[in-house]
Amino acid sequence: MKKNSIGKILKDFSIFFWVIIISIISAFVSNIYNQSKKEQSNKIFESLDNIYLKKTIKQITSKLKPRYRKIEYTSKSGDTYENIIKNLNIDELEKKNFLKAIKQTKTLKILGVNQKFSFVIDNLNNRKIIKFTIETDKKNEIVFNRISGKNLFDAKKIQKNFTKKNTYKEAVITSSLYNSAINIKIKPNIIVEFARLYGFQVDFQRDVWKDDSFQIIYEEYLDTDGNVVDTGNILFANLKLQNTDLQLYRYEYEKDKIDFFDESGKSIKKTLMKTPINGARLSSAYGKRKHPILGYTKMHLGTDFAAPTGTPIMASGDGVVLKAQWCGGGGNCVKIKHNSVYQTVYAHMSKFAKGVKKGRRVKQGQIIGYVGSTGLSTGPHLHYEVIENGKKINSQKLKLPSGKVLKGEERKKFEVSKIKIDVLKSDLISSLN
Ligand SMILES: [Zn+2]
Repeated sequence: MKKNSIGKILKDFSIFFWVIIISIISAFVSNIYNQSKKEQSNKIFESLDNIYLKKTIKQITSKLKPRYRKIEYTSKSGDTYENIIKNLNIDELEKKNFLKAIKQTKTLKILGVNQKFSFVIDNLNNRKIIKFTIETDKKNEIVFNRISGKNLFDAKKIQKNFTKKNTYKEAVITSSLYNSAINIKIKPNIIVEFARLYGFQVDFQRDVWKDDSFQIIYEEYLDTDGNVVDTGNILFANLKLQNTDLQLYRYEYEKDKIDFFDESGKSIKKTLMKTPINGARLSSAYGKRKHPILGYTKMHLGTDFAAPTGTPIMASGDGVVLKAQWCGGGGNCVKIKHNSVYQTVYAHMSKFAKGVKKGRRVKQGQIIGYVGSTGLSTGPHLHYEVIENGKKINSQKLKLPSGKVLKGEERKKFEVSKIKIDVLKSDLISSLN
């Protein structure tokens, strides 16, 4: 089930990132989303209340009302078959018959989230279930028909007539990502997923500006009338921020192991590098120490790596340059913001790399400057700091989900899959014109 896999992915993320995402999309999204979910789940109960509370009306109009009533329900997290049936206004024996039929059907052993149920109930015949249907996945459902005169159901697996379609949408962001996406009829759950995918590299509250843009390809399920009944996976996304493309490709790198990768095969689950320099030696760890120049004991809020002058220093993660200038004791230093939680600082540089300026976007591994001994320094080294929610922390003890980097054969296969998505994208774009 789609919802299940999302749940599983979310568990891999720290609570932090989820909190960020929720704040991005603002109360707005979740309100609308929850409301529609709640409406779905309440529908079942409300429709029944109406029937039985308005008995008088029913008597008057009984000839006009259908004898059979259809009730629909979508399972939520924490639901059981027992509590779903418990809330239906039907005979107790019918509830038992329903649970018995479920038990006899192997494929229904585990109740998923977002599984659709429909019941046809005979209102005039002791509130009996005539028929019920349970969706097993987007394309299949099991239909249970009552065997006449018995407390048994005959189960049949049926394939639904849904067609899967790849949809391309693009928009320039005017007021907010959410509003711009809603304006071109992207469903809220796709917008939430889109924002979640970029949570590691974009601070949606501060990094997205008017006239930035996005592109997205995702799956839609259409019924026989061409109505969108559900959405599937995001296959491709691009968020263009200040003329920098942040592309993501969905890719199954092992059976049932799916992740999103940028165009160079790096997972979006970006981690920060512990050592953003090659061929260096850790010369002073994070913690209390006697300052080599000032002479007294104070906290060393970074990690020092000794390396020859001119050794390239890399951005330890994707992000935006907040500062590339002289900063006193730190000499020539660079500060990068990676997302709304993490920032990194690189000090004592001999010089900055070309193009590394305030406001520029940098990629993980990109050279941002070169080792030097500027500022308060006794010899050429890199002083590296990691700031988490405004507090300097020990970079060597960083615990972030490690992002996969596709290499060798894996990378080759990814390239093929990437080309297919690029071709799909140009096909979908040309069909728009
Ligand atoms: Zn230092």
